[in-house]
This record gives sequence, C-alpha cells and structure tokens, in this order.
Amino acid sequence: MNIIRKATELKEQLNSNENKNKSIGFVPTMGALHNGHLSLIGASKSDTDLTVCSIFVNPAQFNDPKDYEKYPNTIEKDVQFLKEAGTDLVFIPSVMEIYSDGSANLEQYDLGYLETILEGEYRPGHFQGVCQVMSRLLRAVMPHQLFMGQKDYQQCMVIQKLLRLIHLDQTISLQVCPTVREADGLAMSSRNLRLNEQERKKAVAVSKALQFVKEGIKPGDLTRLEIEAASQLSSNGFKVDYFEIAQADSLVLTNEWNGKSKLVALTAAFLNQVRLIDNMLLN
Ligand code: AMP
Repeated sequence: MNIIRKATELKEQLNSNENKNKSIGFVPTMGALHNGHLSLIGASKSDTDLTVCSIFVNPAQFNDPKDYEKYPNTIEKDVQFLKEAGTDLVFIPSVMEIYSDGSANLEQYDLGYLETILEGEYRPGHFQGVCQVMSRLLRAVMPHQLFMGQKDYQQCMVIQKLLRLIHLDQTISLQVCPTVREADGLAMSSRNLRLNEQERKKAVAVSKALQFVKEGIKPGDLTRLEIEAASQLSSNGFKVDYFEIAQADSLVLTNEWNGKSKLVALTAAFLNQVRLIDNMLLN
C-alpha cells in the first residue's frame, strides 16, 4: 500500500502504465477509522480495480473550531487498518496541499434547499466546506466510483448535487453504502471515541428513537411520533438539535405520510459535548 502526500504524485501513480486502465474507487475519510469506513473500502474493492482512500481532517467543514481541535487522530492505526483491508493507495495531504491558495475567498456552491435544513441549518457553512474539499479531492483522484456512507444521509445528497454542479455526474458514480452499527445499534462514528463509558451507554437511545419511529409509523399525521422520539432523547440527557421525518428522495420535511412515499427519519443531538447524528429509512 502506497502512502501519498502530494496530488501530483497521486496523479502520476494513477496514470502509470500499471494503473492507467484500471477502474478507480475512492473512499474519502477524516481518519479515526472504524468498521463503517472499512465497509466502504470493501465495497470499493469488490466493485473496482484500484481503491484510493484519503485521510484529511478538513478545517473548512468545521463550523465549531473546538470540534476541529478535538477531532480524534489515530493516523498510525488508520494506516495499518487500511493496509490490512487491502487498500491500494492512501492519500494523506496537508492543509496546504489541499488549500494551496489559502482559505480566504473559497468558492461557494449553490446547494439550494439542501443547505437550509437539518445539518445545513444547524451547522452553517458546513456543507460549503464539504464541497470545497470534495471538489479538490475528486479532481485529484478522478475516480469512476465514489463510496460514501448512508450514515451521513444529507451529505450524500449534497455530494450528488455537487457532482452535477461541477459537471462530474456523468464521470463519477456515487455509491451510498449502508450504515454499519455497533451490536447495540449505535451507528459507528469517529466521534464515538469521545464518549465516556456512561455516555456510551446512553448513546444507544439515538438508534432506539429512530427504530421506535420505524416501528410506529402509520399513514396520517406524524407529528406525535416525532415529538415522542425527540422526548425519548431528551429524557436520556440529550440536547436535541432536530428529529425530523423527510421524503427519502428529496429530503423535503414532512409531518404527513400517504402510506406510499419513501421516508427517512433523521436526527442530531448532543450528549454533553459530543454531537451524534443518525438516520433510518422508515419503509
Ligand atoms: P468521516 O470520516 O466521518 O468523514 O466519514 C467518511 C465516510 O465514511 C463518509 O462517507 C461517511 O458517511 C462514512 N461512514 C461514517 N460512519 C459510517 C458508518 N457507521 N457506516 C457506514 N459508513 C460510514
């Protein structure tokens, strides 16, 4: 497994005689890797000839500087993990390598409605930062397939929109892979490393609340179900940013179900200092 720090070197490797006719799969990450990330590597390995994984904690997407400072860093373990998983190339650029023109006046993307709700509403600027880094990473790798997790449902929709905005939607196909969970249902996340023992036990309430909605959904008004799910989180000590039900294909928020359309429930909530997000398809 080759570890690469410069985009020029990455291009050289991908265009080498050995690699130039291979299909490329790309798994972008921020490190602190777990089995959720591993499932994306596995999907890429089974669908493409050459798997590139990036590790880059992107300052532009953290609306809270403290969250950036506290983001877990387990780089040596990550490299070992990727090697064992059979990753071909790991791209670990510096901030200067990605943002060589500095971070002032970065380009803005017209994400429309998607940026006004849920994570867009509660983390202003977050999705602009995601798009700023992803457009750079995608141009550096130019994969055939891009593997991302359903865990970040809204992010997947933002990236699909980004691909259209930067005219790469015909070149790069986005594959959304299922959320990998711990045995008790907690969605795997790098941020789980920041939970203490007591918080870790309480964190299961997030997937339980989503499961409660999935099991309780009936055609008609959904308001009471959403309120009950959010109050389950509050009574477990969470400060809830949102608990919403939306149309799965458009993310249009809804309080009514016609019994047919595909719905997804999405939530974000703080357990003390740690913000957890999760979602579940309901039907
Ligand atoms: P991150 O390192 O948190 O930026 O995540 C990198 C990629 O891994 C993103 O596409 C995430 O959606 C995906 N991912 C994170 N957690 C999980 C999980 N539990 N299951 C599946 N994919 C995940």
